[in-house]
Amino acid sequence: MIKYLGNAASGGLAVGKIKVINRRIAGFKRVVLATHREKALYEAALILAKDEIRRLMRSSEREHQDILMFQLVMLDDNGLNVMIQNFISEGNGAARSVEMAMEEYCDRLKKTGDEYLSGRTSDIRDVLGRVVDILDGRSRERFVLTEPSVIVADEILPSDLASIDRQYAVGFITVGGSYQSHANIIARTMGIPSVCGLNSEILNPLNNGRTVCVDGYAGEVYVNPAEGTIALFNHRIRQERRAKVSLMSLKEKDIHTDGEDMEIWANCNDPKDIALAVENGARGIGLVRSEILFMKSSLPTLESQFEFYCECIRAANGRPVTIRTFDIGADKPVGDISLDKEPNPALGLRGIRLQYRHRELFEQQLHALYRAADTAGAINVMLPMVSVEKDVTDFMAMADEVKEKLLASGEIREDRITWGVMIETPAAALISDRLAQHVEFFSIGTNDLTQYTMAADRMNVETVPYYDTMHPAVLKLIEITVENAKKAGVKVSVCGESAADAVNALAYADLGIRCLSMAQNAMIPVKQKLLEKYSENN
Ligand code: PEP
Ligand code: MG
Repeated sequence: MIKYLGNAASGGLAVGKIKVINRRIAGFKRVVLATHREKALYEAALILAKDEIRRLMRSSEREHQDILMFQLVMLDDNGLNVMIQNFISEGNGAARSVEMAMEEYCDRLKKTGDEYLSGRTSDIRDVLGRVVDILDGRSRERFVLTEPSVIVADEILPSDLASIDRQYAVGFITVGGSYQSHANIIARTMGIPSVCGLNSEILNPLNNGRTVCVDGYAGEVYVNPAEGTIALFNHRIRQERRAKVSLMSLKEKDIHTDGEDMEIWANCNDPKDIALAVENGARGIGLVRSEILFMKSSLPTLESQFEFYCECIRAANGRPVTIRTFDIGADKPVGDISLDKEPNPALGLRGIRLQYRHRELFEQQLHALYRAADTAGAINVMLPMVSVEKDVTDFMAMADEVKEKLLASGEIREDRITWGVMIETPAAALISDRLAQHVEFFSIGTNDLTQYTMAADRMNVETVPYYDTMHPAVLKLIEITVENAKKAGVKVSVCGESAADAVNALAYADLGIRCLSMAQNAMIPVKQKLLEKYSENN
């Protein structure tokens, strides 16, 4: 048995088989063979890619099957094949030729200006990337799991999580990443235990298939554990399940404080999550990260967004739902939308700041949001990465324009959006009195508020000692925000990860916060502590 110590990133316990994902191949270098041999390699890779896709189709949901079918058709596309063969004839290796053709083909599609065709470039990149991976000796079938598995990787990307089989992925272990990286945030919302910051030895392919026990609370990992360790983990897992069931009686309980009631809301990824959160007692949904729509295999269209928002609203069954407009950039880059060469992406063009560069993207999102609210029910919409008042007023002016057009054309009958801003920069907290004049609610994003206040990168393991969500400077900014919100009659909640920690939640209650939004498996434990704190009133 080997015991590794890392950082706890998502609470919970798991026992499973290791599945190592080696994204980087050390010292990997492409060798270009004779043209006829490169052509033969390309033909063979095509056959393998088609086989992989057909296998995937058998286990996929309907919506994904359509995309895979389109990808199969693309692999047989004559124009694309001729282009690749020509690049190979010019002396390029097969993998490089596929990459060159991919760029040229996608460029051509984009230049057509056709929204549908441009929207398909990500599917084309995905399928040709599969061919390149095969040629480079990397397998794409990394998330085809057939037994309870613990995924071990250098880093898990948010897009990996979108394709993961929730039934069998019981844990994550990563060498990189941090508690605040988005993959771990999503792991927490999915209730999957995760440990990050492990020694890179864990990536050894020989570990594949070995049994591993993961303690996502303590950040401990046991590879090839003794029988006794496995038995102990399984015992603790059963106990946790029982404890959860007995605490479920709290789910419908209100929390009476010495003033207004405290509400527990949930942060969710998709309609399925929302339905579960409501079933588990969430009084509302405080954060849906809409940029998650970019982590699927094709770019969101107006229709797919409209459907997604409608499903979210319906899944909440009358509870309030808060959609955050696209927060692209920094640690959530998206293809051509975020800039690839920013020297300091966390301080660059992110979230609402992209409205000037990608107006069309936000207009489309607004269109879908107004329509969804009109069709399926009222929603809250909030803006991320606000630091100056003008970003909010400009965005609201764009929203008004979109709304007026939709009202005039009869596409919507009324405006059912309530607007808010995220307070996640020190500047936003300090000018919250002014921001309060433009919106009806604040949602405090402590993940970024801590990063920007403490000048500590949320992704960097080395800056963890500085990344203190309870530092007096961060608490002071929350206090200022609550004060300004109360004066202006604006609602205020916390939706950062820190709200899921009961100790922090109690401190926020003392600061006057009366709504906390968190990963759904934290809702009941936090509720239990708040009920204890206010036991006299409950
Ligand atoms: C936050 O910053 O606290 C937040 C909720 O947003 P995200 O983690 O998506 O940046
Ligand atoms: Mg944030």
